[in-house]
Amino acid sequence: MQKTDVLIVGAGVVGCAIARELSKYQLRVMVVDKNEDVGGDASKSNSAIIHTGYDAAPGTLESQLVVAANPMYDRLTQDLEVPFKRVGAILPAFTQEQFETLFAWKEKAFHNRVYDVEYLTAEELLQMEPNLNPEVRGGLYIPREGIIDPFLLVVALAENAQQNGVDFLLGTKVTGMKVRQERVTRVETTHGEIEAAFVVNAAGLYNDEIAGMVGKADYYVSPRKGQFFVLDRKTACRVNHIVLPIPTKTTKGKLMCPTIHGNMLVGPTAEDLSDKLDKSTDEAGLNSVEADVRAMIPGVRIQDAITQYAGLRPQRNPEGLRVDRYDDVKNFLNLSGVRSTGLTASAALGKYAVQCLQEMGLELKCDPQFDPRRKAIPLLRDMTQEEQDQIMQREPLYRRVICRCEVITEGEIVAAIHRPIPARSMDAVKRRLRVGMGRCQGGFCGPRVIEIMARELGVPAEEIQKNEKGSYMITGRVR
Ligand SMILES: Cc1cc2nc3c(=O)[nH]c(=O)nc-3n(C[C@H](O)[C@H](O)[C@H](O)COP(=O)(O)OP(=O)(O)OC[C@H]3O[C@@H](n4cnc5c(N)ncnc54)[C@H](O)[C@@H]3O)c2cc1C
Repeated sequence: MQKTDVLIVGAGVVGCAIARELSKYQLRVMVVDKNEDVGGDASKSNSAIIHTGYDAAPGTLESQLVVAANPMYDRLTQDLEVPFKRVGAILPAFTQEQFETLFAWKEKAFHNRVYDVEYLTAEELLQMEPNLNPEVRGGLYIPREGIIDPFLLVVALAENAQQNGVDFLLGTKVTGMKVRQERVTRVETTHGEIEAAFVVNAAGLYNDEIAGMVGKADYYVSPRKGQFFVLDRKTACRVNHIVLPIPTKTTKGKLMCPTIHGNMLVGPTAEDLSDKLDKSTDEAGLNSVEADVRAMIPGVRIQDAITQYAGLRPQRNPEGLRVDRYDDVKNFLNLSGVRSTGLTASAALGKYAVQCLQEMGLELKCDPQFDPRRKAIPLLRDMTQEEQDQIMQREPLYRRVICRCEVITEGEIVAAIHRPIPARSMDAVKRRLRVGMGRCQGGFCGPRVIEIMARELGVPAEEIQKNEKGSYMITGRVR
């Protein structure tokens, strides 16, 4: 039986942020995830925005966490070498009714302590965003909203946690928990039992199932789907900021923004479902994305879409982001309802969870060996000519470009496969490097990546998987 001081269920952005925070102390920490890679579910299919919390419900834990988290991203992304940019957001009003709500949104921002929100005139808005619908009447500017690489954020948090001593058990599903004398004494998984002094539930959409294992299922989590288009980098109609619609009660609405890698992101929908596995996109959803975004940016070129995807927000019922501790399960910390702003909130949630664990009795002794820095894989496309020449001399595999759209070499792919948290599937390589995320969507580079992975992992090409167990890339011979 494995033993640990803290067991975290879920290697999404929340679980990994908590793990990294705990790795600052002299503790044994373990993260288990049913998926074969870190990265979570919602954490890899969102809008990739680091919010300010201007529109949160004032006084809520969500507001507190998002507002506290936003400023942390400058330092965090520097330490972890994760691409991040504060491009700022605008909230344009097109109707008189919308225009009249701007005062209330600014006031809400104020109550959330987001003081740097400013009014903009129609002229100012059109200068900042020439592709905006010219009927715009005025709007708000939220300067600290940012865009990030969400895949790399989770990978980097996990890699840094791992370098600082955290163990990751992937492909390992938690199936049950034994509670005795008001404590979880055993966590049952598909790979045996684990004895943990403290257990943290960061299981996102499946958080209610884990809570149910300790008798705390007094709520349920349902999926709220969001569908998106990703437009080609060369699309003619672009925006410079995150262009947000005036939010509604259920959603922040359908936005258009640049991604950190220069594509345009358009979406998402907000559809309440019951099937936690339904990540499909459909015509109705995508048409609604196009129609709503076209009302703000009339020239948006949906025909330049290179892909579309859907993510599932973990909607807690009853609603609300909560961090719960219990008198009758004293070593169980439950994070639920981390729904629409969890990518941002994770930086603060990591610290919040550690504080709770300390108050629950976890002894924290600083680890003087803790290193906050994580080195990214050197990317040829980001180097100067001189640096490119040097790396190609030193590492000949950097001479062979495999993904032409994103300019990724064999050297980078091999590095990803042998990182502290190794990329063991096509999607794992893709999320770390963007191989196959360009215009051809892997049509050209896919077979070469399979060859490289098979060689590096010492397995036949037929064994290479897209993501989870059984998702083989090659299913048979044609001749
Ligand atoms: C469409 C959409 C747009 C969004 N846009 C933004 C945005 O722009 N900015 C922002 O801040 N937030 C955004 N969010 C919200 C954000 O993505 C989520 O709040 C956040 O990713 C939640 O992270 P998590 O780690 O809690 O969950 P997840 O990423 O879902 O991770 C949970 C993990 O738990 C694991 N797990 C579950 N059950 C078990 C089990 N039994 N055993 C082991 N492991 C288990 C899962 O495999 C998964 O890896 C958006 C979300 C969506 C869907």
